[in-house]
Amino acid sequence: MRIITRTDASIEPEDWRRILSSSIRDLNELLERLNLSPEDLPAQQRAALDFPILVPEPFLQQMTIGDPNDPLLLQVLPRAAETELVNGYITDPLAEKHANVNRGIIHKYHGRVLLLAASGCAVNCRYCFRRHFAYEDNRISREEWKEALDYVRQNKSITEVILSGGDPLMLRDSALFELIVEIENIPHVKRLRIHSRLPVVIPQRLTAELIRRLGDSRLSTSVVMHINHPSELSELHRDRFKELRLAGVLILNQAVLLRNINDKLIVLSDLSELLFEFNVVPYYLHLLDPVKGAHHFDVPEHEAQQLYRELLARLPGYLVPKLVRELSGKANKSPICPP
Ligand code: SF4
Repeated sequence: MRIITRTDASIEPEDWRRILSSSIRDLNELLERLNLSPEDLPAQQRAALDFPILVPEPFLQQMTIGDPNDPLLLQVLPRAAETELVNGYITDPLAEKHANVNRGIIHKYHGRVLLLAASGCAVNCRYCFRRHFAYEDNRISREEWKEALDYVRQNKSITEVILSGGDPLMLRDSALFELIVEIENIPHVKRLRIHSRLPVVIPQRLTAELIRRLGDSRLSTSVVMHINHPSELSELHRDRFKELRLAGVLILNQAVLLRNINDKLIVLSDLSELLFEFNVVPYYLHLLDPVKGAHHFDVPEHEAQQLYRELLARLPGYLVPKLVRELSGKANKSPICPP
């Protein structure tokens, strides 16, 4: 099992915003840093125009220099295939537009709402189901939070608020803490969940203040990380996740099953074992949402089921994430059961 520890070598531990602002946004720079030439990869500037390239330094440091098939690189590298039109792959595969009940609120499931707390991300994942989402229309100011929170206040069936985005940890701590206080002040809300990939690509985001605040909340708090491959994890992740867990925050992981990235038994079982070692519970393994521009990442359902059977035979049950697909209009995620 491979853990690369380069992430924390040259970076001031708490300066996540500086790290974020110095992220790579240029294809040639990315390839140069990895000692690759444009001829090594059928990458496409045109695909990068539609969905810009964005790679933070700590995530880059986890990649293997000179490897055009590095599983982390393939998640962020624009490819020619993204510009192909393929039947069934659409801009809003989960029809979130219809569940977008209020500016900044998506209410799809009973008892839970998604609050789109921030519009940006720290990394642009090429397979993202929200790569075409109208974040501009859902960018909410602090004043507009009030309206979104009024929706939660008025719906007493809502017991869990899920901070999503973009990536909710893109908010500065001051804004995030203000939002958490507002949510804590709604008596019928019992749980707070934060979905984020930011601490995966910039582990320095898990500052001591953030960890303390989440641990001190009156709400039962969980953070759902989005980790797709064991190589994404470093010793710095191990330390920060341990602190978060010790603060009383449940850490879960949801991964997306991605062609040529984690569609092998050994990768998925290493991922589960490493997650558990890092205090993270493997929670979901998602089939790809059929979003336009991402068909080359898709793993067909029958292959996913076969992999899942093998995973069940190899790992104890608590290390096997649920294999699911999200279908628009359903009241919950749909389990994919092996036949
Ligand atoms: S971090 Fe999450 S929301 Fe942002 S681009 Fe990646 S998958 Fe999409």
